Amino acid sequence: MDEKKGVKNGDLVLPGDYLGVIEEYLPGEGVKEENGELYAIRAGKVRIDPDRMEISIEPVTDTPPLPQIGDVVIAKVIEVKPQAAIVQLVKIEGRNDREIATSKLAGIHVSQVRDGYVESMTNEFKIGDIVRAKVIANEKSPIQLSTKGYDLGVIYALCSRCRAPLVRRGNQLVCPRCGHVETRKLSSLYRKLKV
Ligand SMILES: [Zn+2]
Repeated sequence: MDEKKGVKNGDLVLPGDYLGVIEEYLPGEGVKEENGELYAIRAGKVRIDPDRMEISIEPVTDTPPLPQIGDVVIAKVIEVKPQAAIVQLVKIEGRNDREIATSKLAGIHVSQVRDGYVESMTNEFKIGDIVRAKVIANEKSPIQLSTKGYDLGVIYALCSRCRAPLVRRGNQLVCPRCGHVETRKLSSLYRKLKV
């Protein structure tokens, strides 16, 4: 029995560790190919990009990971201004649920909320909402996010009157406790993700 075991997202590996075969993954950073087999060339954490099926080794450092452009993040709305919503990043999706610096702030500009015209930001987001958003710029602070797209937007929201979790009904949210009806830029994953 000499079957080599593959790895999964978030596994810690050492240089020379077997990762899998070329039919499974594209070799990314920190990975080398040898006769169709993939090996780690540095110590770190396995990161598998599910879209590209690329495997790379992220060096383990003490600093929390910085979101990269294209990353999908989960964030909490802390302020809603006419031109932008300010959010606090909670985690980066697909990074083994590793916490990122909780002080990290990001912005969703009014032009990046949805395809089409936004009449008022307060109809799209409210303080305390949990949103799923994509990183579109990270070179300046705050990081810029977009919620354009079917599966991006609010994934969890509380009633602004009584704080009960809102239930989706069509394109609106309804409070099961007080009956209040609210709108948001909703994600198709509303209340389908653990937050
Ligand atoms: Zn309510």
